[in-house]
Amino acid sequence: MLQYMYAIVFIVTGFIIMELSGWLIHKYIMHGPLWNIHKTHHQHSRGWFELNDLFSLVFGLIAIILIVLGAKNLDARFWIGIGISLYGMSYFILHDILIHRRVKWLKKPKSGYLLGIFRAHQAHHVNNKRDDAVSFGLFLVPFRYFKSKK
Ligand SMILES: [Zn+2]
Ligand SMILES: [Zn+2]
Repeated sequence: MLQYMYAIVFIVTGFIIMELSGWLIHKYIMHGPLWNIHKTHHQHSRGWFELNDLFSLVFGLIAIILIVLGAKNLDARFWIGIGISLYGMSYFILHDILIHRRVKWLKKPKSGYLLGIFRAHQAHHVNNKRDDAVSFGLFLVPFRYFKSKK
């Protein structure tokens, strides 16, 4: 029982670390010194891949390294790595499939939590410039995006 609690605590920790550090990285680095890479996500690029996908690769690599390092004893590193991986998969499903429809599997959400984060991310894409963007997180967004407006 205790092992499960241990695993869950660190999985959730990994997930939350990603949303918080992702917010910071997105706001201060991607919309800062690494804008040249991130702008490929904001300005339509040719082809299916964006140079911006490099960020996902880096996060994926960090998760893999943590999982490998922690695999022997199933310690915190292993579970944080799993949390980061789950974040990455959820991010891909919501951001890349649901919101940007890189593959057309899901329809635009009509209500509830998904509609809120959908609107928040659309707000992030309104000006598609480096400066003055809003709403840098994906899962944790300001409450105003959940209020219904027609
Ligand atoms: Zn951005
Ligand atoms: Zn986006």
